[in-house]
Amino acid sequence: MTDIKIVLSKLGIQDLNNGISTGQKSWIGDGDVIESFSPVNGRKIGGANQAERSDYDAVVNKAASAFKSWREMPAPKRGEIVRQMGEELRKFKSELGTLVSYEMGKSLQEGLGEVQEMIDIADFAVGLSRQLYGLSMHSERPQHRMYEQWHPLGIVGIISAFNFPVAVWSWNAMLAWVCGDVCIWKPSEKTPLTALACQNIIKTVLQNNKIPEGVSCVVTGGRDAGEWLAGDPRIALVSATGSTRMGRAVAEAVAKRLGRSLLELGGNNAIIVSQHADLAVAIPGIVFGAVGTAGQRCTSTRRVILHESIFEDVKDKLVRAYSQLRIGNPLDPEIHVGPLIDIDAVKEYEKTVQKVKDAGGKFLVEPRVLTGDAFSSGCYVAPCIAEVESQFEIVQHETFAPILYLIKYSSLEEAIEIQNSVPQGLSSAIFTLNIRESEQFLSQAGSDCGIANVNIGTSGAEIGGAFGGEKETGGGRESGSDAWKAYMRRQTNTINFGNTLPLAQGIKFEI
Ligand code: NAD
Repeated sequence: MTDIKIVLSKLGIQDLNNGISTGQKSWIGDGDVIESFSPVNGRKIGGANQAERSDYDAVVNKAASAFKSWREMPAPKRGEIVRQMGEELRKFKSELGTLVSYEMGKSLQEGLGEVQEMIDIADFAVGLSRQLYGLSMHSERPQHRMYEQWHPLGIVGIISAFNFPVAVWSWNAMLAWVCGDVCIWKPSEKTPLTALACQNIIKTVLQNNKIPEGVSCVVTGGRDAGEWLAGDPRIALVSATGSTRMGRAVAEAVAKRLGRSLLELGGNNAIIVSQHADLAVAIPGIVFGAVGTAGQRCTSTRRVILHESIFEDVKDKLVRAYSQLRIGNPLDPEIHVGPLIDIDAVKEYEKTVQKVKDAGGKFLVEPRVLTGDAFSSGCYVAPCIAEVESQFEIVQHETFAPILYLIKYSSLEEAIEIQNSVPQGLSSAIFTLNIRESEQFLSQAGSDCGIANVNIGTSGAEIGGAFGGEKETGGGRESGSDAWKAYMRRQTNTINFGNTLPLAQGIKFEI
C-alpha cells in the first residue's frame, strides 16, 4: 500500500503531526488549525490554519491587484499558462490522485480519474482561450457597426464540496483563468489538504512565469469563510458547489448585493428501466451509479424506476450484484466501495434507513455499519436497496450514502412523472432500446433534469458538456459547451463611422 508520508512530501505538504508546513505557505491563514482525518483508517493526515477575516481581506486585496495585470494578458497567452498547469498536474497525477483517495475516501481509480478530469479541463480551457467568441450584428442605422465582446469579470470565489475535492474547483478555475478572472478558492473543511496540494502545483507555474500569485488564492475555513465570499461585493461571481441548504444561503447573500452566483447543488437522480431495456447494460449502470464513491456523488443513482413486468427480474439481479461487492480500503484496487466521509455521514445513513422503515419501505439488501479492524474509522457502511413508494417523504431527499430505492411503474408517462416529482433536477437516465421511449424521455415533456442520458447511468459526466441541474440543484452550468460565459461580462458595442448621428427606432432630434 502507498506510503502516504511520501505522497504528502512529494506534494510539498510535510506532516508534522501538529499541522502541516509547506515551507513557504501557499495560502494565507493564521486562525485555528483545521485538522484533516482520513476516513480510510481514522488517522490524522495533517492540518491547516484557517483564515481569519483579516486574512481573508488580505487575500481579496492580493487577488484584486493580480486581476489588473492578468486581465491585460491576451487570452491565448493566459491559455498557455493554463496549458503549463495541465502539464504540472500530469506530473503529480499519481500523488494527487492518491491524496484525494486517502483524504476523501473514494477509490484510487476514482481519485486518479478526478485528477485526469482536471487535466482534461485544462486542455479544454487552452483551446477555449482562442474561442471566446462574441457575435456581430447588423445595425439598423447606416454606417454603423454593432458587435458584442466578452470581458473578464474580476474575482471569482469558488466554494467546493468534499466529494469532488479538486475537480470541481478546476472546472471553475481553469475556465475563469482563460477568461481573464482571478480565483479565490474556499475548499471543503473536510478536505483542506488536497486543496493546498493543488495550490502548490499551480503556484509553481505562476512563479515560473512571473505571474502574481493572487491569480490563484486559497482561503481555508468552514462556513464562515464561504459566507465572507458570498456577502462580499468585491467578489464578482460566487460559484458554489454543495448541499441545497448551503446553496440557498449563498444565493440569498449574493442576491442581496445583486451579485452573480453559479450554483451546483444536490441531486436525487433516477434511472428508468423499461421493459425494452438491455439489462446487460442497465444492471452495471445502476450498480456503479448507486455504490460508486459510496453513493457520495451529486450524480449518484438514488432511485430506480422499474417497469412492473421486469421488476422481480431486475430486483434479483441487483441483489445478486450487491452480494459480490467488496467493501474496504479504497486504496486497494480490488475494492468496490470505500468509506463515507465521516461519522456524521454514517449517522445520516442510519437516520435515513430508519425513516425508510418507518414509512413502510422494505429492505431487499440490508443496511449495516461495518465493524472490525479493517473498518476502524467507523465510516464504512454496506450499500443497501429498499423497495419504496415514490411519495415517501424520505425519497424526496438526497441522502449522501449508498441507499438505493426501487419504485415500480406501469406506463412511461407515469415513470417520467415519478422521475420529475422530486425537488432536485440534476441527472437522469432511461435504459430502453425503444426509440419512441427514449425520444419521449428526452423531449420537452420528458426529463426535467440538466442531464438526461439514454442507456448510460446517471453517475459522472464528460467535461465537454455543460454540467449542472435545474430546480433545487441550483440552475448553474459548469465545465464544457458555452459554460464559460458565466465567467465573463458581455458588452454590446455600437460604432458610428459616418458623419451624421441617426438615432435608433427612427427618432428625430434636431437642434
Ligand atoms: P456542504 O453544503 O456541507 O458544503 C459545501 C461547501 O459549502 C463547503 O466548502 C462548506 O464549507 C461551504 N458552506 C457551508 N455552508 C455555507 C454557507 N452558509 N455559506 C457559504 N458556504 C457554506 O456540502 P458537502 O457535504 O461538502 O457536499 C455534498 C453536497 O454537495 C451534496 O448535496 C452534493 O449533491 C453536492 N454536490 C453537488 C455537485 C453538483 O455539481 N451539482 C457536485 C458535488 C457535490
